[in-house]
Amino acid sequence: MSCIEHKTTPSSLNGEAGRDHNPFDVMEPRAPLKTPVDRKNGKHVKANDIPPQGVYLPNNNILAPHMKSPEYVQLSTAAAITLGIMGGRMYGCECTRCLNLLLTYPEGCRANCAYCGLARHREAERDYADRNFIRVDWPAVPMADIIDIVARDAENSPFHRMCVSMITHPRSEQDTFAVLKQWTDRIDPNAIPVSILSNPTTMTRDDVQRTKDLGADIFTVALDAATPELFDRTRGKGVQSPHKWSKYWDIMLEARDIFGPQKFGAHIIVGMGETEYEVLNLIQELVDLGGHSHMFCFFPEQGSLMDHLPATPRDQWRRVQLARYLIDYRDARVEQMRFDDLGRVTDFGVADAELADIVDEGIAFRTSGCPGKFQDDISACDRPYGDSPPSDIASYPFQPKKKDIKRIRKQLDIPVTVE
Ligand code: SF4
Repeated sequence: MSCIEHKTTPSSLNGEAGRDHNPFDVMEPRAPLKTPVDRKNGKHVKANDIPPQGVYLPNNNILAPHMKSPEYVQLSTAAAITLGIMGGRMYGCECTRCLNLLLTYPEGCRANCAYCGLARHREAERDYADRNFIRVDWPAVPMADIIDIVARDAENSPFHRMCVSMITHPRSEQDTFAVLKQWTDRIDPNAIPVSILSNPTTMTRDDVQRTKDLGADIFTVALDAATPELFDRTRGKGVQSPHKWSKYWDIMLEARDIFGPQKFGAHIIVGMGETEYEVLNLIQELVDLGGHSHMFCFFPEQGSLMDHLPATPRDQWRRVQLARYLIDYRDARVEQMRFDDLGRVTDFGVADAELADIVDEGIAFRTSGCPGKFQDDISACDRPYGDSPPSDIASYPFQPKKKDIKRIRKQLDIPVTVE
């Protein structure tokens, strides 16, 4: 029996209104408002004819309609700092290990996912190039400039991986191929492997194959919601968005076929209204298929349709993080775990000593994602503070220190034994 079997319900540490998890009925997105005609499809940006001039920092407010992929991409603030394109420092990290790129267009993403800062409804109040995404700004930069910097010494680059994030847009596939080709023409994918974060809604099997043929190493699907019902509520009909759960699964299974074991996976946001049992079952299903799960802790993104809702309480998040790590990397199975009547983990089904070691090791609580060059269970994609502020870290973008482990143990309601 595990030392952290809860004889009673799990304790409540961080939740709003005394909750230790985010239940389905609380996590209702608000309805999108109508966009004024003069702002639809980036109309007022396109009405200008200002040529782009190098790097565009968010809120420059230069309406440059030609700043679009494949010539331009947006990149995370962490990647821009690491490349030397932006100044700044990140708490606890010298750099990021993943160069996260995002396709960009003046009309932006055409989907309307409720938790996302890039969603279509935001065209009413914010130009696409200025929208926050996973809590940070994404400057727009010429792709050729990025490649020039990295190609100077790809072998010794701080980046262990590059990732192209597709968005929902009619040009998304062809521009992903173009960005990928520009990259692999100059940078050996063995020196810096490439991942694709796909947009299945507009993709075919041939498109998946093409990314592989052009040198991609891992293909992931941003499932994001953990159940079909939640998916529909947050990214489908519920918010006038085009995505379908079944299509996401179809493309993920094509990726499994084309990329092979351990080279495909799904992104999942924890705490949008699913139970811990539901999300861990999904994680088990992905492992049984030969893939991986990359997890995000729900954070109410400013300007999104869920910005009024509570972030995932840390105790719920830690339980799922730990259980997911056990399933993904330590051969534990969801069937060995125990859950209460609200679907919360009450027993991880792992021996006391082993569980204590895994908690103290800290890797389970680091950001999860595609692997880098350190070891398989350490993600290159560290997304510094993409799902929490540094004052209350959800996914650690660095190796948790002793004081962090003490805090994690408290959040998990495990006696603190670390010196
Ligand atoms: S498809 Fe992706 S980028 Fe577009 S709104 Fe949905 S989550 Fe955001």
